[in-house]
Amino acid sequence: MDTIVTTSPTEAAKFIRRGGTVAFPTETVYGLGANVFDEVAVSKIFNAKKRPADNPLIAHIGRLDQVKTLAAEVPVFAQRLIDAFFPGPLTVVLRKSEKVPMIATAGLDTIGVRMPRNELAREFLLASGTPVVAPSANLSGRPSPTTWQAVYEDLNGRIDCILQGEATEIGLESTVVDCSGESPVVLRQGAIALDQIRAEVHNAVLAESSDGESPKSPGMKYRHYSPTAKVKIIEAGNGILDPLTSAYIGIVDPEITLGMKLIVPDIQAYAHSVFEFFRECDRKSIGTIYCEKVMDEGIGAALMDRLRRAAHD
Ligand code: AMP
Ligand code: MG
Repeated sequence: MDTIVTTSPTEAAKFIRRGGTVAFPTETVYGLGANVFDEVAVSKIFNAKKRPADNPLIAHIGRLDQVKTLAAEVPVFAQRLIDAFFPGPLTVVLRKSEKVPMIATAGLDTIGVRMPRNELAREFLLASGTPVVAPSANLSGRPSPTTWQAVYEDLNGRIDCILQGEATEIGLESTVVDCSGESPVVLRQGAIALDQIRAEVHNAVLAESSDGESPKSPGMKYRHYSPTAKVKIIEAGNGILDPLTSAYIGIVDPEITLGMKLIVPDIQAYAHSVFEFFRECDRKSIGTIYCEKVMDEGIGAALMDRLRRAAHD
């Protein structure tokens, strides 16, 4: 199957309307979408990505009133988060409506809902005329794609269309907040920090580490975001072995000759570049990628979460 690459959101939306799969840019990472209400279309996402069937997808909406078609109910605290952060890099998990097929939620009775703020994504979603369920547009287990070329590298020939946009603004996946229980639980950290969530809903808590006995969300149990190269987290440029076959990404320059090196001005730029840097290291067959540890707060908390998962053997 040939994958069509287009810059036209209406052209891309035609594939969704016909039951196909489309990769599209958002402000977080590129997503791989299909019509949430079309079970056959949704199954194509799992096949294309080789994604385990028990890992749920996030439904992306172009209009706020589409929340009603996806969720059985919206608790007051969830509505507060929606009012504060939609459109943006926040996913709320709600009890699903009966219309949402089980395949989209990996058998759960809840559905993740997000409204991207990226303009191209919104035009595409509106033209699709339906919520579009989409995980990140990479082969399962690989670093999430932040450029359309990274999507092409993993999925060319496996999906119907790529909507070609810019490199994604944030570079890390959305913050996921479970709003299906008594009080909000942050399942995955992202650009919207825990403090910002708490400013809206005071009793929000962080889910226990996914390394624990019982993961709160099925998606948390999988090895994620990993390049083929080994990933090691280090303090500011210290302890780098075999520099010529190694790579480094960080804010502080270790000032040694390395196989690959990316010095970024700040944590935001670090988050923006890290997944593409991982991919570039794999293209160059780097053995070990050393990543500078950053402060565990704001977007730094989300970045450290991804680095730890990538470093996990
Ligand atoms: P991604 O492939 O990066 O887009 O992953 C989407 C992630 O969102 C999943 O792996 C889960 O961690 C989370 N998620 C989506 N839907 C739900 C849900 N209904 N319940 C809990 N977590 C969810
Ligand atoms: Mg993913």
